[in-house]
Amino acid sequence: MRKRINRNVLLSIYKKLYKFYSSQKWWPADTRFEVIVGAILTQNTSWKNVEKAIKNLKKANVLSSPYRIGRLKKGELSRLIKPAGYYNVKAERLKNFLTFLTAEYSGSLNKLSHQKTEKLRQELLGVNGIGPETCDSILLYAFKRPVFVVDAYTKRIFERHKICNKDLDYHQIQKIFMDNLPRNYKLYNEYHALIVRLGKEVCRKLPNCKICPLGKRKVLANRIL
Ligand code: SF4
Repeated sequence: MRKRINRNVLLSIYKKLYKFYSSQKWWPADTRFEVIVGAILTQNTSWKNVEKAIKNLKKANVLSSPYRIGRLKKGELSRLIKPAGYYNVKAERLKNFLTFLTAEYSGSLNKLSHQKTEKLRQELLGVNGIGPETCDSILLYAFKRPVFVVDAYTKRIFERHKICNKDLDYHQIQKIFMDNLPRNYKLYNEYHALIVRLGKEVCRKLPNCKICPLGKRKVLANRIL
C-alpha cells in the first residue's frame, strides 16, 4: 500500500511550533568543526553534558582545528570529554573521524565541504561510530545540506500524531519529511530544533497536551494511508 500524507500537515505543524517557540538558533557552536565534535559527543547524552565537554576542549585550546584535537593522545582526549559520558568510545569515534578527514581530505574541512551531499553522506556513514542521525546532523548543521534529521523526539511526536507508524525505520521517517516539505536546509534546521524543544519540554513520555502548541492530538491526526 502506498504511503501518503496531506502535504500541508508537516508545514502546518512547523508553523505552529515556530509561532510558539520562535527561532531556536541552532546549532549552538562557533565553528563547523565544533558542530561535528558536538554531534559525535551528543550521542546518548544530554546537551548540558556536551557543553561541559566542549568547554574543556576550548579551555585546552584544541577545538580550533581538527589538527589540534588529532595531536592529542586518546587518553587525554577521553579525559577532556569525560562529562559527555561514554568518553572512551566517543574519543575513539572522534579519532576515527579525524583519521578519515586526514586520509581522504588532508585534514581539511574546507575540502570535505565541497563534496556532493550523497557522497559525503556515504563517506561519513563509513566512519566507525557515525550512524544516520549523527551523519545527518553533520550534513545539516555543519554543511548546510537540506537533509532532515530524525531523532527519538521526532519518532515519538509524529507517531502520536499518526504521521508515522511504530515500525518505520530512520530512512522511512526521513523520507516522509523530505517528500512532503520543500528541500530547504534553513527549514530543516529550524524544524528539527523545534521538535527537540517540544519533545524535551512538552511531548515527554507522559505528554502534556493541555499546554502543547500543537493542541489536541485528534485535530492533527493524519494517518498514513
Ligand atoms: S504533547 Fe500532545 S498535542 Fe503536543 S505533540 Fe505531544 S501528543 Fe501532540
